[in-house]
Amino acid sequence: MKTSGNNTCQSCGMPMNELSDFGTDKDDSINTEYCLYCYKKGDFTDPGITLEQKLEKNITIAEKMGMPREDAIALANAIIPKLKRWNRS
Ligand SMILES: [Zn+2]
Repeated sequence: MKTSGNNTCQSCGMPMNELSDFGTDKDDSINTEYCLYCYKKGDFTDPGITLEQKLEKNITIAEKMGMPREDAIALANAIIPKLKRWNRS
């Protein structure tokens, strides 16, 4: 598997440091691009979600972890739209 040393989920921006943080492909091998929350068995866990919905989802999670909403919004907007899953142009 290729590990660049900078493994960030290309769907939600979560840093992935442990093997157990990574998503899995259909054959249960490790997928190094996406985390276990976003990608399981070769499919996204939230297929069809829009970028806006993903932002809101992550903002909600960050808030639950204690981040002020304004910071959570700024962080999500700085990271997520640049990720491979959303950057399709
Ligand atoms: Zn993810």
